[in-house]
Amino acid sequence: MIEVVSQVESFAIENNVMSMEALVLQIGELSSVVPDYLKKIYPMAAEGTMLENTRLEIEIIPGNARCKACSQVYNLLQENGKCPQCGSEQKELLSGREFFIKEIVCYDTDEIDNKNKGV
Ligand SMILES: [Zn+2]
Repeated sequence: MIEVVSQVESFAIENNVMSMEALVLQIGELSSVVPDYLKKIYPMAAEGTMLENTRLEIEIIPGNARCKACSQVYNLLQENGKCPQCGSEQKELLSGREFFIKEIVCYDTDEIDNKNKGV
């Protein structure tokens, strides 16, 4: 998590982002990352960085696979890793192991826009 925080921080510096409101992560439901645990440790990881006092939002990406036997696409967790159509366990993983920084939400942008409209 500390790694993610420093990644976001250097991204923010590169893009002249002065203050952030929230960090949005996308996490695959098959990844080893536990969202609740991340939320718990986030304030500690962010402490003393630019991300201090920001909100952490997590979007879960479903773990989908395509059956190699019949090409059916299904959710691995819902179907226990077996194709619901033909029962085959031969599959190709399509999604679910992601760990992405999706978005950094900054409130500054909106404020600047509003000021410009007023002029
Ligand atoms: Zn199948």
